[in-house]
Amino acid sequence: RRVSLNGKVVLITGASSGIGESVAAEFYRRGARVILASRRESELNRVKEVLMNLEQPNVYPPAVLVLDVSNLDLIPSKVEEAYRIHGRIDIVVNNAGVLSRAEVIESNISVYQDVMQVNYFGVVALTMAVLPRMISNKKGHIVAISSVQGRMAIPRRSAYSASKHAVVAFMDSLRAEVADSGIHVTCIHPGYVKTNIAHVSLTAQGNAYGQEDPNIEQGYDPLDVANEICEAVECNIPDLFQLVSDSSA
Ligand code: NDP
Repeated sequence: RRVSLNGKVVLITGASSGIGESVAAEFYRRGARVILASRRESELNRVKEVLMNLEQPNVYPPAVLVLDVSNLDLIPSKVEEAYRIHGRIDIVVNNAGVLSRAEVIESNISVYQDVMQVNYFGVVALTMAVLPRMISNKKGHIVAISSVQGRMAIPRRSAYSASKHAVVAFMDSLRAEVADSGIHVTCIHPGYVKTNIAHVSLTAQGNAYGQEDPNIEQGYDPLDVANEICEAVECNIPDLFQLVSDSSA
């Protein structure tokens, strides 16, 4: 049975660019009440403007929540702030993520910690903050954007791929735990998507790469990816693979 997203309250992390921005637009088009979360308030406000100028009318203006998912201690109070906006949260899309590209031999251990903090612990902490209420309401949907590299590792992605494997294992285990609680758990495994992720990806020493990926044109359009993500939520698909190539994230 396909569930309507109209009026649903959805908290999307990493909504200031790329896949998260497109996911926010797709939920908004479907009438959802979107809460845009990430670190950069100015970019979240830009996305809010973009959404409000879309052709499809939505009576609920997007809300903006400044949230750093790597700051685990602050996540519970930030989630409380999100709950106060509409009085509930129906869907969480754990999309915020950081890419790293370097060989193990040249890498600083801090890169592994930083990638894990955002891509894995951020997902765990945010899920823990919404789960008790979802369980007592007997409904809710938790989504995580992993990667094809959450199932298959390639060279120069050890930190990133390990973090995405961790997310997949976490989501698989969670899905089994809440199977009888009315809560849905969806893990998305995109192939290469045309976003800014290469630009901000971490080098071996933890600096931003600062250049566009030369293969970017081979990637999926983030809006197509977002459309499929919304459908996966509407249809409660547990795992969605979006394979195009293994050239990047
Ligand atoms: P972008 O770099 O365009 O977007 C990343 C988003 O994450 C930004 O909105 C950024 O916002 C946010 N973010 C980063 N760190 C934090 C943090 N500490 N707290 C909160 N938000 C944060 O990349 P994509 O759109 O490509 O990536 C989105 C997700 O999709 C990631 O999880 C990525 O691993 C995954 N993915 C991407 C693929 C690709 O080819 N592009 C393929 C497979 C998976 P801000 O800077 O404002 O905080």
